[in-house]
Amino acid sequence: MISIADICRFLEEFAPRGLAADWDNVGLLVGDRQEGASRVMTCLTITPAVAAEAIRERVELIVAHHPLPFRPLSRLTTDEPTGKILWQLIRAGVAVYSPHTSFDSAADGINQQLAAGLELVEIEPLTPVAGFDSPQGIGRRGRLTTPRSLSAIAEQLKTQWSLDGLFLTGDVTRSISRVAIACGSAGDLLSAAIDAGSELFITGEARLHTAYEAEARGIALLLVGHYASERPGVERLSAVLAQQFPTLAVWASRDERDPLVWV
Ligand SMILES: [Zn+2]
Repeated sequence: MISIADICRFLEEFAPRGLAADWDNVGLLVGDRQEGASRVMTCLTITPAVAAEAIRERVELIVAHHPLPFRPLSRLTTDEPTGKILWQLIRAGVAVYSPHTSFDSAADGINQQLAAGLELVEIEPLTPVAGFDSPQGIGRRGRLTTPRSLSAIAEQLKTQWSLDGLFLTGDVTRSISRVAIACGSAGDLLSAAIDAGSELFITGEARLHTAYEAEARGIALLLVGHYASERPGVERLSAVLAQQFPTLAVWASRDERDPLVWV
């Protein structure tokens, strides 16, 4: 029988904890490593709907990209949403592992997958992490072999990721070859993208002031949505786990949804 410890060991090799941001909370967050696992579900975020699916489907482990709990808890009751989810999961014997920023930055992690999906070449981390060799590190940068217009790249992303819309800042006719990308909410990497000579920075979400700054500093910005930038990563992670542990039943949550919709 595969143990939760076996899965944790693999996930810590796949996305080493040393890659995680110092503010982050990664690794096994809920559960008993000694218990066995035969059914595992990945997801972006453990919402009430995702927790209900895990309990209904009798999974022993959820691999959730976003940590739960994230902040220290001083009480665990059903009076508030986080406590309610955790209480339900614990009662049902469901463990939680979160790789979060270590998965963002891993050699085969979300940002590498995004950069490869854009068919970038010469892919490097946007910000290296001390002690880790390329291609591990925060975000990615690279080059398109054939320069493309900003509007063509936006259309490609909309098709590739089935997006109803996205936000962009910049001249849509501008020809782009050097691109930086970082999943999630990574507006604070704009300066790193500029310093790397990128003409376009793609991230999930950013503040209005990041868009003003991009405009003022002459770099195009594409915001594809936080969910859209990370959900494909957890779908792929379920495939990676299935390949590593062929006897496990593994899937990416089927009930998970982007809470933000275009209308
Ligand atoms: Zn995220």
